[in-house]
Amino acid sequence: MIGDKVAIITGGSTGIGKAIAEKYIEYGASVVIAGRSEKTGQETAEKLGCQFIQCDVSEYDQVERLVDRTVEEHGQLDVMVNNAGIGSAGNVEEMSIDDWHNVIQVNLTGVMYGSRAAIPYLKESDGCIINVASIFGLVGGPGAPAYSASKGGVVNFTRELAVDYASEGVRVNSICPGFVETPMTDDYLDQEQFYEFVRGQTPMGRVAEPEEISGIAMFLASDEASYITGANIPVDGGWTAH
Ligand code: NAP
Repeated sequence: MIGDKVAIITGGSTGIGKAIAEKYIEYGASVVIAGRSEKTGQETAEKLGCQFIQCDVSEYDQVERLVDRTVEEHGQLDVMVNNAGIGSAGNVEEMSIDDWHNVIQVNLTGVMYGSRAAIPYLKESDGCIINVASIFGLVGGPGAPAYSASKGGVVNFTRELAVDYASEGVRVNSICPGFVETPMTDDYLDQEQFYEFVRGQTPMGRVAEPEEISGIAMFLASDEASYITGANIPVDGGWTAH
């Protein structure tokens, strides 16, 4: 289904991005994962059998280099997964102004950088963009205004790009996960009260494993999804259904 495709996954060294990389590789795609930590990235790349390129998505020149190098070395780019992201804590009075800017820069501007750098190549390959947003791009979340604002931005940026590039053969969609067991959420989910809150908000009564998010990323990247663009798809155990 995606065996002939070349994919970049930002934040592919850990968590959801790593699970997506694993799934793409299982189905024969050539995968480049990207992140800031050289050590974690190389370890994951070695384990999965893919390439790691160091890149901070908040720096446009680094994102351009990531995309250009991928195309130089693999000949094309078919799938750009803008997955890298960071969390934030504290309500709007508690958070620092620096935190706000940092979260917006990585989670929202980083997605724009990845899309902008990839689109010229995706137009050539009839490729697609998959952004990893969040349920907190669709509904408000407790105590994370910068995060929710950044993910809400990703959701509507996804629609905007889908409209702009549909006629040029580029599909753009996002995945909106609920709570997933990853390094990002470990510390929160370890707190019993928080874990019970999450379980209570989730009709399925549990959090997800990263592997439960990678299936939709696989589908969206495949030709089976050829008429899907501009969709922001919750994968959330029912969180946004009520
Ligand atoms: P994670 O394991 O912490 O993964 C985040 C990845 O992003 C890491 O590999 C990290 O690698 C990379 N990253 C962070 N800042 C970066 C930057 N400036 N440049 C490049 N890479 C950067 O957490 P995750 O849960 O898998 O998160 C993946 C995505 O899913 C995020 O966008 C997150 O918001 C979203 N999401 C997660 C959940 C959840 O419950 N876990 C729910 C909804 C949405 P380096 O540190 O090496 O850079």
